[in-house]
Amino acid sequence: MVAPPGWPYASWLDLDVLREAEVAHQLPPTSPLLQECLAFNESFLHGSSLFERPAGFARIQVGLTESGWMGARSRRTIPPFGYAIAIDAGAWLQIHLALSRLLAHPDVLPHIAVQGLPPLLKRLALPFITISSDGNPSNVDLFGGDRRAPDPPPDHKRSSCHRQLIFYAMQFLFLHEVAHIVCGHIEYRVARAAELARRIPEERRILAEEFKALEHIADQRATRFGILLAAAGALQGETGNAQEHQLLQQLELWGFAAGIVFLLTECFDYVGAFTSNHPAAEERRLFLRATALATPIPLIGIDTAHGVSMIDRGVQHAEAAWESLGWKCRPVGEIDLDNRISLIEHLEGEIAPPVDMAPSEQSNQGLKRTPDGAA
Ligand SMILES: [Zn+2]
Repeated sequence: MVAPPGWPYASWLDLDVLREAEVAHQLPPTSPLLQECLAFNESFLHGSSLFERPAGFARIQVGLTESGWMGARSRRTIPPFGYAIAIDAGAWLQIHLALSRLLAHPDVLPHIAVQGLPPLLKRLALPFITISSDGNPSNVDLFGGDRRAPDPPPDHKRSSCHRQLIFYAMQFLFLHEVAHIVCGHIEYRVARAAELARRIPEERRILAEEFKALEHIADQRATRFGILLAAAGALQGETGNAQEHQLLQQLELWGFAAGIVFLLTECFDYVGAFTSNHPAAEERRLFLRATALATPIPLIGIDTAHGVSMIDRGVQHAEAAWESLGWKCRPVGEIDLDNRISLIEHLEGEIAPPVDMAPSEQSNQGLKRTPDGAA
């Protein structure tokens, strides 16, 4: 598959070409999981019947770039008729590298294992993929310790949890970008950066604060999408209490995965590649909780506050897991919660979403109802 017309990024990773190269060089196949992640993105934008999507989703393209970095970005297509979400090819590998180490620790998500895991006998480094100035990938070992991956725990519950977490983390990266688009942030960022020339420190400070607030808004909107999806996934099959229990557990895992994305994004600080616009992981967690609770999401069968608190628990657990391996988090110091929340509210009122991206009545109310009355 070639890049869609208008794709505004320098590269487009063609999975078919990649697959041919793998066959030619007798390499192991690209993870079917990565293919699943990409299939999810497509289906979320253009295929799934789980929810009523805004008409504007038809104008959004998504694909992988050849970049080895961990991240995702979005901008207008060329010509600017639509939007493109580019996910770095390195992201899923980076997420995998981090999770395979975190899940080897017996205190990390201890309830998701058939039996207790043995203690970790050595300190583990986090290999962090970087791109050198000649464009070649290399990696640095962050936080000190053994760079090799620990043996995967011989535990099927643990390994399916590992898969699920990679899937959710990739989902979060993608949904966060969808959120920037549907909230009108793409246009707003361009306009504001042009308006404020950033020549004086005061303008730079205002822009930095605004851009941080936009990140919180995107995190929150991504979480609302995530809750709807988790609910839809958990609704297949199980019924009654088991269904509620399963949904809550998935929300916790979803939060854990989002927390890992927050922490990995922070790692750019340590390799000095470039400064990320994104707030510190701890700030993102605090605002995710504050803003998600402020705008309740109707959920079928469970209390919204309970659902949000499970996500919050997952994000907190990700931070604790990170620290239990001796890995660093960015210290945030004092945060003026009230001030930033009022900036978030102000921006939400100020920025108009693209007209065809506003949520429809039905999707506002949650999941689409099927004819037999089941959600
Ligand atoms: Zn963002």
